[in-house]
Amino acid sequence: MRALVISDIHANLPALEAVLAAAPQYDAVWNLGDIVGYGANPNEVVELARSLGGIVVRGNHDRACSGNLRYGEFFDFSQHARYSISWTRKALREENTKWLSRLARGPVRPLGRKVACVHGSPQDEDEYILGGEVAREAFRASCARIILCGHTHGQYGWSSNRRRLDLLKPDFDSRTGAVRFELPLRTGNRYLLNPGSVGQPRDHDWRAAFAVYDDNEAMFTWHRVPYKVLTAQRRILRAELPEILATRLRDGT
Ligand code: ZN
Repeated sequence: MRALVISDIHANLPALEAVLAAAPQYDAVWNLGDIVGYGANPNEVVELARSLGGIVVRGNHDRACSGNLRYGEFFDFSQHARYSISWTRKALREENTKWLSRLARGPVRPLGRKVACVHGSPQDEDEYILGGEVAREAFRASCARIILCGHTHGQYGWSSNRRRLDLLKPDFDSRTGAVRFELPLRTGNRYLLNPGSVGQPRDHDWRAAFAVYDDNEAMFTWHRVPYKVLTAQRRILRAELPEILATRLRDGT
């Protein structure tokens, strides 16, 4: 089976459409959360994400935008994030708010014990796995062989075995067009892999990021695809969301 792995769409409809158009054939979609927040098309993106079926794990913005927050947690978000959360709450249609509020908390396991899908980390849905130490903890906290996580908006991962922990990053041969990077999954290793962000990349590459997990071929492929970023930016400005949410899309920051 082959899964399309997407995360952190953040209400960016042109980016999601480009990803779906560029994705190779797949049997299921595994969505690691943060469907809304920051971008200007929350309803359209929720409806498209819903129509894809498959697995959807909730992200922190999905919780915040559907009113599903712990006391005081709203103030953990940055000022721009808070503004966009308030904007999104008003913009969302009721049925979409309801759908977001009922999303599953990770880990969700689409293939039995083998794969765990989380937004942040297996031990904490809001944790950012940015360094080796937290990656090590994530491997300890889960018994899944492959952990798929989002939340940091970067395309990278780690492989782990009894002797070592290795940082993994795609090495694309172009900075402009559609590109892919294949990572063969070795039998003796465990993996922690982030597909990157569809709608708000922060790894200095503006192209929409996604990945494909192929269970039969034991292969994880990172993809990057150009999308209509000017359209996404124009919609953010027209919605009177903070300007920085539009400018950062062009820089991938
Ligand atoms: Zn996010």
